[in-house]
Amino acid sequence: MIERFIRDVPDFPKPGILFKDITPLLQSAEAFPECIDQLAALIPASSYDVVCGIESRGFLFGAPLALRTGKGFVPIRKPGKLPYKSVSQSYDLEYGKDRIEIHVDAVSHGQRVLLVDDVLATGGTMDAAVKLVRQVGGRVAATCFVIELLFLNGRKRLGDVPVHSLVKY
Ligand code: AMP
Repeated sequence: MIERFIRDVPDFPKPGILFKDITPLLQSAEAFPECIDQLAALIPASSYDVVCGIESRGFLFGAPLALRTGKGFVPIRKPGKLPYKSVSQSYDLEYGKDRIEIHVDAVSHGQRVLLVDDVLATGGTMDAAVKLVRQVGGRVAATCFVIELLFLNGRKRLGDVPVHSLVKY
């Protein structure tokens, strides 16, 4: 049912990219909570201590998931947004280059982190997020996504890190 609320937008933000637009999903009072319930059911809540979302669409799913599962929420942000001492990682996107950051005290040593984003494409973003969490002392329990673009092999790029997704293309 989630699938019906994902809209394909061709040639956005660049020619040749088929953008998976999740705004219809967010708009639906039935599909959005259903999506959060399904994400919560993908991974046992006992296997992680905190939910970490990647700016900005990872926040839209990560924060409600944290509320739903009774966990805290940690934001991984674009450069220059976090006010406190941070570490950063740069990475390649399906359409460009970018950088993400995390506060040095965002997770405590050995804490198990569930990483959340909307789309797994090449895996570059999530790979950088995994490195950030480890850099500040966290353990990555798993990663989860609403959408996985199988043909881009993001899973392979993430190696041994468990990957869960709701809708696969
Ligand atoms: P990647 O690092 O290649 O796995 O790209 C993942 C990030 O880019 C996610 O934060 C997505 O929000 C975004 N993204 C990449 N490709 C797409 C796509 N085809 N449709 C929507 N978002 C995408």
